[in-house]
Amino acid sequence: MPKTNNLLEYSNKFLIVFSCCIPVKGSRRSTICDLQRETFDFIPNILFTILTEFKGKKFKEIVEYCGEENQDVLHQYITFLTDKEYIFFSDEPEKFPSVNLDWKSPYEISNAIIDFDASSNHDIELLVSELDKLRCPAVQLRFFFSPKYNETIRILKCFEDSGIRTIELILKYSNTVNLSNLKILIDRFQRVSSINVTSSPKRKEITYQSYFPNILFQEQVVDSANCCGSISLSNFRVNISLFTESQKFSSCLNRKVGIDKDGLVKNCPTSKNDFGKFEKGKLGIVLKSRKFQELWSINKDMVEICKDCEFRYICTDCRIVANHKFSKPLKCKYDPYSATWK
Ligand code: SF4
Repeated sequence: MPKTNNLLEYSNKFLIVFSCCIPVKGSRRSTICDLQRETFDFIPNILFTILTEFKGKKFKEIVEYCGEENQDVLHQYITFLTDKEYIFFSDEPEKFPSVNLDWKSPYEISNAIIDFDASSNHDIELLVSELDKLRCPAVQLRFFFSPKYNETIRILKCFEDSGIRTIELILKYSNTVNLSNLKILIDRFQRVSSINVTSSPKRKEITYQSYFPNILFQEQVVDSANCCGSISLSNFRVNISLFTESQKFSSCLNRKVGIDKDGLVKNCPTSKNDFGKFEKGKLGIVLKSRKFQELWSINKDMVEICKDCEFRYICTDCRIVANHKFSKPLKCKYDPYSATWK
C-alpha cells in the first residue's frame, strides 16, 4: 500500500476504493462500511462525494476539485483512507469492479422468534418440523421468565435432528438459570449460538469455550414482547448479508416469522396483527400470503428519517414499534440531521 507523502505522485493514477468498502451518505456525515472486516468508520460527506462521484477518474481531477487551499485536508483524508486500507491507487481501474449488492437467500424463512411466558404451551416438535420444512436456519427462543432447567433441555432436544443451525437463547435470570447450567447447555447442544440472561443482578460477560461467543448477563428486563425494538450502536451489524439485504428489504422483518407467547403466528411476536394460531401446515400457507409479505420489502431508503441516516444498511431496524410502516422506529434515539444520540 503506497504511503501518500506526496500526492502529486498519484496524479495520473486512479483512486480505487476496495470493493468490500462501501461509503454510505447520511445527512450530516457518512460512513464507510468494510463488509470484509465487519467494521465501519465515519467520514465527512465531502469524502463520500470524492469516493463516489470521482470513481473511475484520475486522482488529479480530485486534487483540482478540492482546490489549492484544501490540499492539506485532502492529504489528511487520503492518508487516513490508505492507512485504514479503504483505498489504493492503480493504473488499471477496470480490473477492480464494484461488488454486486444483489441479495439472494436459499431460505424461505431465514429466522424465527418464538416467545414463551410461564403459561405458553407451544407444540415445539411440530414448530421445529414446520420451520425445518421451510429451511429456516436460525431460531431465537425468548423466555420472559426463568424456565426450569429440564424444560429448557426438553425444548432444545426437539431441535436435535433438524436442519436449524443456530439457536439464540434469551432467558430470565434465576437460581436455575446460572452459569454452570448454561455451560452444560452449550456443551450438550452445539446449535446454541448465543445466550443472553436478562434481569441479572449485574452485567457481566463470560467467556466460556473459545468457539462460543460470550454469555451475556445483563440487567435489562425482557418480560414481554414490548421490550423489543431498541436501536443502538451495539446492535449494529456490519456484514455483507445484512448490508445487501437492507438495500431492497426490511432488515427487521424480511423472511422472518414470529410465534408469540400465545402461539399466534405473526411477522414478529411484538406485532399487534396476527395470522391465527399456529397449527400443522399453517406456516407454509401464511408465509406465502401477500399480507404477510407486505412488510418484507420496506427498505430503509423508504423509511422517513432513516433514509437520511448513514447507518441505514447496518442498523437492525424495527418495523413494528413505529408510528406507521414507513416511520422511524419509535425507540431509535439517533438524529441523522444533527448526528447525535439523544
Ligand atoms: S435513524 Fe433509522 S437507520 Fe438511523 S439508527 Fe435510527 S433506526 Fe437506524
